[in-house]
Amino acid sequence: MNDKISKTKQEWQTELSPEQYRVCREKGTERAFTGQYWDNKSKGQYRCACCGEPLFSSDTKFDSGTGWPSFWAPIAPEHVATETDKSLLMARTEVVCSKCDAHLGHVFDDGPNPTGLRYCINSVSLKFDQDK
Ligand code: FE
Repeated sequence: MNDKISKTKQEWQTELSPEQYRVCREKGTERAFTGQYWDNKSKGQYRCACCGEPLFSSDTKFDSGTGWPSFWAPIAPEHVATETDKSLLMARTEVVCSKCDAHLGHVFDDGPNPTGLRYCINSVSLKFDQDK
């Protein structure tokens, strides 16, 4: 059911904005407090900016004070995957879209109840669908 999406570098570059490409396909990070959604309090669903997969719901969004949209759980566990990221001195857990492997952000274990997790996600990796 979970069909993988695989596109060439060139295809992604054509479809995405330069900032989306840098963050999602080259594992970049948007600057804190600059993204579209860190302060978004509307009800709705956050989809993958690359493939449209539903990733997070406003129901699990919380104000982390970090300047990035933060969630304590994905919409469904199988919609995201994690990988160990050793690009900084401290190993972090990278979060990617399970369908297209887009880099979304990182997950930390200092989040609120009920999971204690904090999915720290780049706005530019997401596309918000407001509830009608
Ligand atoms: Fe995706």
